[in-house]
Amino acid sequence: MQSKSIDALIIGAGIAGLYQLYQLREAGMSVQCVDAAEDIGGTWHWNCYPGARLDSPSYTYQYWFSQELLDEWQWSERFPGQAEIKRYLHYVADKFDLRDRVQLNTRIASAHWDESAARWVVTSEAGQVWRARYLISCVGMLSAPKLPPFAGHDQFKGDIVHTARWPQQGIDLTGKRVGVVGTGATGIQVIQTIASQVAQLTVFQRTPQYAVKMNNYPLTGAQGDYWRSRHKQFAESLPNTFGGFEWDLPELGWATSLSVKERRQWLEECWADGSLKMWVGTFPEVLFDEKINEEVSIFAREKIRAAIDDPLLADKLIPTSFGFGTYRVPLENGYYAAYARDNVELVDVSESPIERFTENGLLVAGREYPLDVLIMATGFDAGTGSLTAMDVRGRDQLSLRELWSRDIRSTLGLQVHGFPNLFTIAGPLAPSTAFCNMTTCLQQQVEWVSDAINYISSNAIASMEPTKERQDRWVEHHDEVANATLLANTNGWYTGGNIVGKPRRLLSYIGGVGTYRQLCADIAASGYQGFTLRAQ
Ligand code: NAP
Repeated sequence: MQSKSIDALIIGAGIAGLYQLYQLREAGMSVQCVDAAEDIGGTWHWNCYPGARLDSPSYTYQYWFSQELLDEWQWSERFPGQAEIKRYLHYVADKFDLRDRVQLNTRIASAHWDESAARWVVTSEAGQVWRARYLISCVGMLSAPKLPPFAGHDQFKGDIVHTARWPQQGIDLTGKRVGVVGTGATGIQVIQTIASQVAQLTVFQRTPQYAVKMNNYPLTGAQGDYWRSRHKQFAESLPNTFGGFEWDLPELGWATSLSVKERRQWLEECWADGSLKMWVGTFPEVLFDEKINEEVSIFAREKIRAAIDDPLLADKLIPTSFGFGTYRVPLENGYYAAYARDNVELVDVSESPIERFTENGLLVAGREYPLDVLIMATGFDAGTGSLTAMDVRGRDQLSLRELWSRDIRSTLGLQVHGFPNLFTIAGPLAPSTAFCNMTTCLQQQVEWVSDAINYISSNAIASMEPTKERQDRWVEHHDEVANATLLANTNGWYTGGNIVGKPRRLLSYIGGVGTYRQLCADIAASGYQGFTLRAQ
């Protein structure tokens, strides 16, 4: 098949990919965006499971580059559902005429760097080939679903569905016996939504989470006007905060300067906000200091216990083996209440793991749980999974998959030594991997990449990649910050601990979004010091 020469190929048409496409097209480049899905939207296309909902306030979860867009678009709620966010992305694609440069139903199989031509040779699974100067991965950090290999799945006569592969036309669960494996943010949203629709709901829980009661409300009238009046301020302030949200973490040391009573009052305020402020807006010490963390954990446990009538059930649903905020904190809206229903059963699989499928359901501790549908809310191979699913080879045939199977390294999550002109938006070791209000971090990274590409193009440079020394320095700094936190030893997707054999490292940079933004800006201002810029 003939190849097509272009300036830039973007993989992924979600929040990052669409903005990257807009930026490079505006810079006058020939650019093609491809996506494996049948529609644009990325995460917000794939995750159309029941109850999928935003957990960042919508008024901070949007593009800031167009005042017209900000003026025209109205969010209906503080935490809107998946369909509304997807509609927003459609609106953006239409308004800025992006669709004709997006090729859907196109999964990339391989991308090989041709050093002599300084081009990426990118091939789709269907055999289509592009030769591109720049390859920009916008594949998302939570996009490669994890499916635990329970034995006997081909015997099971019911349906098995992963939440991130939910059929677009939906599944009618009315009157069915449904099982859910997984009680992370996704499982919680599914369970609280379908409990009243199904005949019987069986939840297979291995690790309970500290879920914070969501405070959602309509953004009509005065509420909407209030938040809209703050758009300009948000556009400037969000990239300079710790987590990219409208609230910031107070100064280190503040928690210990308060009395226990004052800290409690502050926690009450943060809890009442009903948002991730409870996670990245209370005290920085929650993430570093075991004593303060335990105090916040006790507070959260009390709140959860108060929401559950049955004390034995509460014991099962309240985490005790890890501290608050050391896993990503989910928001809930009726999750704990769902367990009070007669048709909902909680099965603890922490001691006795799920053994296998039978013809009729799942077997746990010798008991068969009959099911018509099993929902896998089992998460993702985060940060690296979608990149390593492709055969990406840089200089000297260096394989990204092989490299990251040994050790996950990158330079600010944006580039990898050995892979010239490959840019990885939301790649591992940046705040955008997990520790950020995603739109804040994605826009900052897209803008940095666009600036870098414009710099290369206008300075007769053939290729750009970080030096090994620059990368080593970043990884060392990343590890130093990460290992000072209480998150470094958790077993969830944050550290790769949820995937058997995955090298362990906190996937997200946790030094703060503002600090990271400044570091990126300094690199650009220095003419990309620490990066090898090869002349054409
Ligand atoms: P997750 O947090 O990784 O949760 C996966 C769940 O599956 C965990 O409860 C895990 O238990 C369980 N699990 C995995 N393998 C299992 C096995 N073999 N047997 C029993 N249980 C098993 O994944 P997620 O819930 O999809 O969330 C991932 C991230 O997506 C979130 O942290 C969040 O960042 C994002 N998200 C955001 C929203 C939103 O509100 N905008 C909604 C959903 C997700 P263990 O913990 O014991 O491994």
